Amino acid sequence: MSYHTVEAIDCNGDLVTFMEYVILLGQDNRSLAGRLVHFHLVGRISLWSCKQCDTWVWKFNFNAQFTCNSLSSMLDELSAVAHNNTEPTIINKLIPQKIGIFMWRAIKNKLPVRSELDKRGIDLHSTRCPVCDEDIESLQHILLKCKVASEVWELIRKWWNFDMIRFVSIPELSKASSPSRSSSIDSFIWQAVVWVSSYLIWKNRNDHVFGNTTLSPPKIVSDIQSRCFEWINCRSKKVRLEWLLWITDPLHSIRNVQVKEGIG
Ligand SMILES: [Zn+2]
Repeated sequence: MSYHTVEAIDCNGDLVTFMEYVILLGQDNRSLAGRLVHFHLVGRISLWSCKQCDTWVWKFNFNAQFTCNSLSSMLDELSAVAHNNTEPTIINKLIPQKIGIFMWRAIKNKLPVRSELDKRGIDLHSTRCPVCDEDIESLQHILLKCKVASEVWELIRKWWNFDMIRFVSIPELSKASSPSRSSSIDSFIWQAVVWVSSYLIWKNRNDHVFGNTTLSPPKIVSDIQSRCFEWINCRSKKVRLEWLLWITDPLHSIRNVQVKEGIG
């Protein structure tokens, strides 16, 4: 294991090794670096320097201040989730780990929705949903009930030809039980679709907040279809989806695939 392959991006956008940051912070963190490698977070930890307060900032805790303790506690919680069967798993190897980390943060209610920021005493102009302005922005609202989310889930339901998909909580969303009571392969792929959908609904919300270009629900669903298609075909040695069948009849597309046992 090489500690020097753990990388971060500095304030100038240059890639440097995480160990360099650890030295800067004056901490002995060989074990931290090892655990980062274990969780395949190499290249996914972004740190920025904040010149005003002379600290490092990152995106995994609410006040965004980076400390080795905050990194350590994130890794401890990831480890607990990964090894505790009573907690929903954050691993679906068909999709990138960053999506699993997003779901883990959602389960732990650690995504910076306005209602949570308000509870932590952060002064906000409004706690209402930045997308629809029809309710207080909670995680449940933005991922499940907001008008964009509702339209996306309805389009996903039609795409998969399900009578109904009904997630009433974030843990249910994470579990992503398949309405079709189908094979484990179907379930794995359905969970991947649900997680990627949640991630892209959240991304679209952030684009809205930060003034970037946002997508309509049909365009979000097209993005979900193409990303899942690409990731599943790249990451699974046994599943090869065919594009036209995938976008018209995904369950048929999956069952059309000859697999020996499981996926991966
Ligand atoms: Zn809304």
